[in-house]
Amino acid sequence: MKLISATSTHVGRVRDSNQDRAMSSDRVAAVADGMGGHAGGEQAALMAVAEFNGARGDLSPPRLVEIVEAANQRIFEAADDPKLRGMGTTIVAALFDPSVSVVSLVNVGDSRGYLFRDGILRQITVDHSLVDELVRQGRITPAEAETHPQRNVVTRALGIGPQVEVDTFSVDVVAGDRILLASDGLFNEVSSEELGELLAVAGDPKQTADDLVEAALKGGGRDNVTVAVLDLVDEDDDAQASAVLDAKGSHSDNVLAEVARPRKRRFPLRSILIFCGLLLMIGIGVGGPIYTSRNSYYVDADEGFVAIYRGRPGGFLWTRPSLERTTDVRVEELDGASRERLSQRPVWSTEAEAQGFADNLSVSDVGG
Ligand code: MN
Repeated sequence: MKLISATSTHVGRVRDSNQDRAMSSDRVAAVADGMGGHAGGEQAALMAVAEFNGARGDLSPPRLVEIVEAANQRIFEAADDPKLRGMGTTIVAALFDPSVSVVSLVNVGDSRGYLFRDGILRQITVDHSLVDELVRQGRITPAEAETHPQRNVVTRALGIGPQVEVDTFSVDVVAGDRILLASDGLFNEVSSEELGELLAVAGDPKQTADDLVEAALKGGGRDNVTVAVLDLVDEDDDAQASAVLDAKGSHSDNVLAEVARPRKRRFPLRSILIFCGLLLMIGIGVGGPIYTSRNSYYVDADEGFVAIYRGRPGGFLWTRPSLERTTDVRVEELDGASRERLSQRPVWSTEAEAQGFADNLSVSDVGG
């Protein structure tokens, strides 16, 4: 069994520069989606992909992680340049080991690796994105994630810090399997069903890669779109392999000839999105309990009278309970059992329930 692969990329219909980069060979393929201003985004993605282009000989799964870590280090150091500050990139890469028929995948960020086998498309990698985090926490459904306004906020990227955590996956492959690597410009525009349909069409990987990009453009093309298609084929399938090598060669030239353009945007957009994503996660973590605490009611004493408060006893963070209403029942008039119940300050979710609790406190007969 051997690997034949090809890439395809397009700036899309909206963006004015393509900050995605890709490479592929008969062993390895990679897709990077850059972020952080025109110069920075292109530069970071180019550096990540170049690290794979430069990798020769000894290619192994541990080496794959080392390549990603080396790319991270280089991008992080290059980001010292004020013109490139804040740049970063996603990476997804796949390595074929013919000796054991295994494809190893690595990823950082929200570019994806898929396996297409027997007509079924499976996502292998796990996105490092805000919406994926929210889905794992059960806060939104996978369907909601697909159209979530913050779906392009990544929680991990190359070049952001001196160290990076790299996720690894491995797949035992058989002839006929197709591996798809893609930037979010593909799967945000094309449904999984349609991706599966396009991958099911027999053809060389270059044709399939181009078809996938075309589908993303038809779907709206709101982002740069980049794919790598890796086909596992039987050794004797030479005609197909040579046709693909031609297509791939021309693409590699394009990738290497790319030159960073002058920066136009002052602030690195995706860095800001990462920051906003973190703020949003903190906001959801804190906002939920605050919301709950502001929509709670409890009964307590206010200057000797039974009173209804909005909030939680003691408050939550900077939210303090507020006095809603003081009844005309004196705490000292309550019988022992009612005073005991009042001292526990039970919390209710509606004011009516709290009022009901207050109404049911018994006044002792003494002096009545
Ligand atoms: Mn993108």
